Amino acid sequence: MNNLLKQVIDENRKYTNYGQVASYIPELKNAKRSDLGICIIDKDNKIYTAGNYNTKFTIQSISKPIVLAMALMDNDWTTVFSKVGMEPSGDPFNSIMKLETNDTKKPSNPMINAGAIVTTSLIKGSSLEEKEERMLQFFRRLANNDSIGINYEVYKSEKLTGDRNRAMAYLLKNDGFIDGDVEEVLDLYFKQCSIEIDCVDLARIGINLAMYGIDIESKERLISEKVSRMVKTFMVTCGMYDASGEFAVHVGVPAKSGVGGGIIATVPRRFGVGIYGPALDSKGNSIGGIHILKDLSEELELSIF
Ligand code: GLN
Repeated sequence: MNNLLKQVIDENRKYTNYGQVASYIPELKNAKRSDLGICIIDKDNKIYTAGNYNTKFTIQSISKPIVLAMALMDNDWTTVFSKVGMEPSGDPFNSIMKLETNDTKKPSNPMINAGAIVTTSLIKGSSLEEKEERMLQFFRRLANNDSIGINYEVYKSEKLTGDRNRAMAYLLKNDGFIDGDVEEVLDLYFKQCSIEIDCVDLARIGINLAMYGIDIESKERLISEKVSRMVKTFMVTCGMYDASGEFAVHVGVPAKSGVGGGIIATVPRRFGVGIYGPALDSKGNSIGGIHILKDLSEELELSIF
């Protein structure tokens, strides 16, 4: 397996030349475009790695399925889905358009920014600090890594420049989809996006989702089977934004990308996959990462369909 991973990294590194590192969050520009790394953890807890697998980067939108899991554990589902929908939007991740044109004005799903800001607002806690701490603890447990924290440079950079997200959040408040202090909700959202991880952390979260919420090491239940199914279904239908359909055809596994260059993939009862490649395609997905997953899907027959 290690040889296979080295091979897919070497063969697909060329695609990083065709992608761009995200720059709309200024701090993300510092990433190295040619970096490409992968970690796979299998159901027996064997860890395989290649390339820049231990480079740290921010989780960005890969936080969305995890925060969705939290929102579903903290609230009854009727409440959650009265505020966020279940349908792919077919629009870019940061699109604001459907908040006006959808009949209900409800965000289409929790994997795009508007829907994710709603799920963030549903995290329970008596103060912002408590919510942040609960969130970090949840990520740490899922990744089995107590040292996971926030990259404050990226957080500050996004908070300073995140006016598009800010605009969406105020609209969502106006239309009754978020309660409370909008700036607090945004602060928590920017923090969740700025959580720093590496490919091993993502692969660990991926295998725990692949095992339907049971930690492969401690055998402790971290997420209920129902919630883990729900989260993975959203990953299949909406996880790669407006490239989710094509990704399902070519790769066929639940996955989620982030503009930091990460992709998490979870292959039921088999593998958790974490990829890092900050060169992004036009839809904001890691260009090298998508090519690697296509190759691995063929090689290891990963498609769930
Ligand atoms: N923090 C980013 C944003 O809100 C996350 C987007 C992404 O990773 N696609 O714009």
